[in-house]
Amino acid sequence: MDHKNDCSVCGKELVYLDEDENTECFYCKDPYTSNVRCEAGHYVCDRCHSLAGNDLVEQYCIRSSSREPLKMALDLMKHPQVKMHGPEHHFLVPAVLVTAYHNIKKTDAGRKRSDLKKARQRAEKVLGGFCGFYGDCGAAVGTGIAVSILTGATPLSRLEWSLSNLMTAKSLFTIANHGGPRCCKRNSFLAILEAAAFFQENLEITIPVNPDLKCEFHTLNKECLAGECSFYGT
Ligand SMILES: [Zn+2]
Ligand SMILES: [Zn+2]
Repeated sequence: MDHKNDCSVCGKELVYLDEDENTECFYCKDPYTSNVRCEAGHYVCDRCHSLAGNDLVEQYCIRSSSREPLKMALDLMKHPQVKMHGPEHHFLVPAVLVTAYHNIKKTDAGRKRSDLKKARQRAEKVLGGFCGFYGDCGAAVGTGIAVSILTGATPLSRLEWSLSNLMTAKSLFTIANHGGPRCCKRNSFLAILEAAAFFQENLEITIPVNPDLKCEFHTLNKECLAGECSFYGT
C-alpha cells in the first residue's frame, strides 16, 4: 500500500478533474470544492493531511457524528500519521469510545470535546511499548480511561473506580489470551469489542460493533499472525 502519491484513505490513484466539484473532507467532513479526488471519491483537505496522529484523532472525533467506534477506528487507521503500530492507538481507543457514547446519548458538544481532551492528556502518558515492557497494553488502558472519564472516576471513587479497573482488566485478559507479538490493530479491535460488551452490561448503552470485522492492514504488518488472528481475511 503506497499512500505517498495515491489516496491516503484507500491507496487508489488520484483523479484530476477539469472542473472543481463540491466535496467534503473524508476526516473532518468540512465542505470543500476541489478538482482532485481519488478513483473511489475520497478527498482529504490540506489541514487534515498534515495533522499529526493524535491531533487527527481529536479533530476527527470532535466532528464525527458516528455511533460506531470500530468504523471510526478503521477510518482513522487509514491515515498515514496513524502508523501500523504506535502509541497513537492508546488515544484512538478511548477517543472513539467516548465519541460513540456521546453521539448516542446526544450529549452537548462541549462535554464531548472536554472528555476527548481529558482522554488525550491521559493516553499520552501511556508510552509506546507499554504492552511488552510493562505488561499493560495501551489499547486496554485506553478502555479503562474511557470508563474512568465517562463515569467520572477518581482514585477515591467506589463503583466508578471498580468499573474503570475492571474494564482495563477485561480488555487486557482478552488481548493477553490472543498472544503476541503486539499488533496495535488487533489489540485495538479486541479492546473496542470488549468495551462495547462492558458498556452494555454496566453503562446501559448499546454501542453498535461488528465482531466479524476483517482487518485491512495485515499486508503492512511484518509480524501478522495471519490465519491465527481472528480479524485476518479479506
Ligand atoms: Zn480513496
Ligand atoms: Zn479535513
